Amino acid sequence: MKTVDSTVLAASRAAPDWASSPARQRADLLAGLARALEEGREPLVKLAHDETGLGALRLSAELDRTAFQLRRFADEVTAGAAFSVIDDPAASGAPPAGHPHLHRVRVPVGPVAMFSASNFPFAFSVLGGDTASALAAGCPVVVKSHPGHTGLSREVHELALRVLRAQLLPAVLLGLVEGASPQIGQDLARHPAIRAVAFTGSLRAGLALQQVCRQRVDPIPFYGELGSINPVVVLPCAMLGREQAVATALAQSIALGTGQFCTSPGVIIAKRSDSLDLFVRLLEKALASQSLHPMLNEAIRTGFDAGCQRLGQRPRVAQILRGASAAANVPAAALFRTDAASFCSDPALREEVFGPEAIVVEARDDQDMLDAVRAIKGSLTATIWGADEDNQFHRALVRAASSVAGRVLFSGVPTGVAVSTAQHHGGPFPASTQPFSTSVGSRAIDRFLRPVVFQDPPDWLLSRGGLPV
Ligand code: NAP
Repeated sequence: MKTVDSTVLAASRAAPDWASSPARQRADLLAGLARALEEGREPLVKLAHDETGLGALRLSAELDRTAFQLRRFADEVTAGAAFSVIDDPAASGAPPAGHPHLHRVRVPVGPVAMFSASNFPFAFSVLGGDTASALAAGCPVVVKSHPGHTGLSREVHELALRVLRAQLLPAVLLGLVEGASPQIGQDLARHPAIRAVAFTGSLRAGLALQQVCRQRVDPIPFYGELGSINPVVVLPCAMLGREQAVATALAQSIALGTGQFCTSPGVIIAKRSDSLDLFVRLLEKALASQSLHPMLNEAIRTGFDAGCQRLGQRPRVAQILRGASAAANVPAAALFRTDAASFCSDPALREEVFGPEAIVVEARDDQDMLDAVRAIKGSLTATIWGADEDNQFHRALVRAASSVAGRVLFSGVPTGVAVSTAQHHGGPFPASTQPFSTSVGSRAIDRFLRPVVFQDPPDWLLSRGGLPV
């Protein structure tokens, strides 16, 4: 295995040529990588399952999603997403109305360090969305593989190298470093040639890496996704008479992937009523009957148990469900209940518990509901069921949800993140360290492009249509 230094230096040597590579070349690479992933499906999915236990069905679907993302960025780059320009012709007269010709383009930031996520061995890993968007932007990538799927990371990297070589591109456009020590990741983020870091994982590791990025002589952007509790507000009109349907939908979403999704719903806010009591009983039953698979690793399992224990010991928190686990590494789903005032006053109730767990927050009135939503620090999503009419309370609720989350849903459940043009997968801290950016969807490319304006540029530069020199 090469060192961090040699891998990053090799990537940085390839950066200028890749920055000025035409759309066709980038699109061909991304499409070639997608094809190679699909061709390697069977052994890759098997290896991914052996390392993560996530199941062949889910992993095969995740591979499809990863190939889709790669092709999506191939389409984006072909449509000119990396080469957008704003041309502002010269205006005669005295300033401020008069000004020179300004031509705004974007240039790739340079080599990007990408930290694979434990819970998405394909879609947020070696050839995942961060890599696809960085390559599309014109940046080489150095991946820090996740210790939970090093074998798969190596295989996918080897496959990518074959595609690069077949297309006569430098293999160093996609580097890989590994090693189960925080030092490796920190050395990578600290390396002078790295120009941005993309990370999905825990608050603890994310904050440590953000600190490294900030403390550099030349601080660089750190795009971290560090945790989310994804509140779901169920208004009385959406609950009454539909308690079973709401409970079933939420139980399935909470337990999906054994709760190991960043968009797993962790907080359910609803008004005190007989209907809520019935819903809680049905949710308890529905959650207890969900089938769970082993968690990704021992540390995540231990963290889940510790989180549930912490919640269960808080004052004014009732433990509704905490069954016995079926096997040592398979957790038991957990459900808690509290009131809005306690939820707002006790920060421990608003921390992410990564796994199949949720807390029901009982509100006395509309104000309690708003307070509970506003108390949430920052979340990838917030879901509101029942705000179909335009009225003052619904407006206030949408405003509160928009102030804490990057995606506000009005139906369905937050698990499942569409890869599309308008998607925003981010939100106020800790959902994201850069809430203006997204790590999923077409706009993910913007993280790796920096604006430059050319003032009174020569014609040859204008004629490049935004393609960097
Ligand atoms: P993690 O511990 O944050 O690890 C993610 C990556 O960061 C790994 O490559 C890890 O590699 C590296 N790392 C860990 N500590 C570091 C440090 N101090 N400095 C530099 N690099 C460091 O995440 P995880 O293993 O996926 O799961 C742990 C917890 O993260 C979960 O229980 C959950 O709470 C959270 N999580 C959140 C999300 C989300 O979407 N928000 C997703 C997955 C996990 P090394 O161990 O080799 O250093």
